[in-house]
Amino acid sequence: MQSSFRLGNIFGIDIGIHYTWLFVFALVTWSLAALVFPQTFQGWSTAAYWTVGAIAALLLFVSVLVHELAHSLVAKREGLPVASITLFIFGGVSNIQKEATRPRDEFLMAFVGPLSSLVIGVVMTILALLLSNANQQVFAIVSYLAGINILLAAFNLVPAFPLDGGRVLRAILWWWTGSMMRATRIASIAGQVFAYLIIFIGLLFVFRGDIIGGLWLVFIGWFLNNAAESSYKQLATQQLLRGIPVRNIMTKDLQTTSPDITVRELIERYILPGSIRALPVVRDSRMVGLVTLSDVQHVPQEEWDNVRVEEIMTPREKLHVLTPRDDINMALESLGEQDLNQLPVVDDGRVIGMVTRGHIIRFMQVREELGVRK
Ligand SMILES: [Zn+2]
Repeated sequence: MQSSFRLGNIFGIDIGIHYTWLFVFALVTWSLAALVFPQTFQGWSTAAYWTVGAIAALLLFVSVLVHELAHSLVAKREGLPVASITLFIFGGVSNIQKEATRPRDEFLMAFVGPLSSLVIGVVMTILALLLSNANQQVFAIVSYLAGINILLAAFNLVPAFPLDGGRVLRAILWWWTGSMMRATRIASIAGQVFAYLIIFIGLLFVFRGDIIGGLWLVFIGWFLNNAAESSYKQLATQQLLRGIPVRNIMTKDLQTTSPDITVRELIERYILPGSIRALPVVRDSRMVGLVTLSDVQHVPQEEWDNVRVEEIMTPREKLHVLTPRDDINMALESLGEQDLNQLPVVDDGRVIGMVTRGHIIRFMQVREELGVRK
């Protein structure tokens, strides 16, 4: 995110603060020190109200950070790179650089955030009950953290994309319908409906006299609506790719191998010279399977001369293939759902090309940079 400064690095993830967060810090500290704490706890010095307010606001920051770290660590475990976490006016954002490829991964990644807030909230509630007769200032901080974390968990679980709850909803719909696109569409519509509802409630507040509270809600609703809309746009890009056949982007100068050569020959003739990661296996000009680098890695070196390609390849029947007329979205979805890096393109039993994730990304980037719409 622009205009943010770096705070440090945890588990290889850069932690940053956007300047708008300072505004939130000031607002939270002020509302605790000037309004909330004086109403609940009498007889503290002014300095005590402000110090306790500032500590509570800082610990709110730590709570949001833990929430985002939970998302990021699950993402990293799932093999999705996380560049940074930035805290800004509406909370935190984890800069996860790839989308989950399976609904299960998306579900876990989204759910773990609110779950961590809920756990903090419950632990703080128990602490507050235990500490109710102890130091008033400590009790004030602990009970504030209990309430705010439970609120954070609840707000994030609202099924409005791109909030965590919307992502959970999308993962469930994705798993149910098998289509990430449809799931995203429904979840972002839910997100927009929720956003308009918040704006509407905010306006009601304004008309009833609570101008600051009302405008704050309108602002949050506006932000959520924008976020839901941009996830819609992402979907539109996918729609843009619809109808463009994989024939247009596949590599055509293709090397193939025979099923009868040994693993050593395969490595020395094809894999090493061409840095090739996957090779269609062809017999009598018909595709019989696909052999990949990871298939080869499973063969111990002393067996390289004894094992033939046919024994380690994935046979044609178990292979997911594309036809040259399939559209790029379909290739993208198949790659994602099967967690593969490449798919062979087969026409009438003969392999005529390969499509990789890299091809599709480059294809989209070039169109984007040229401003080509269709
Ligand atoms: Zn979250």
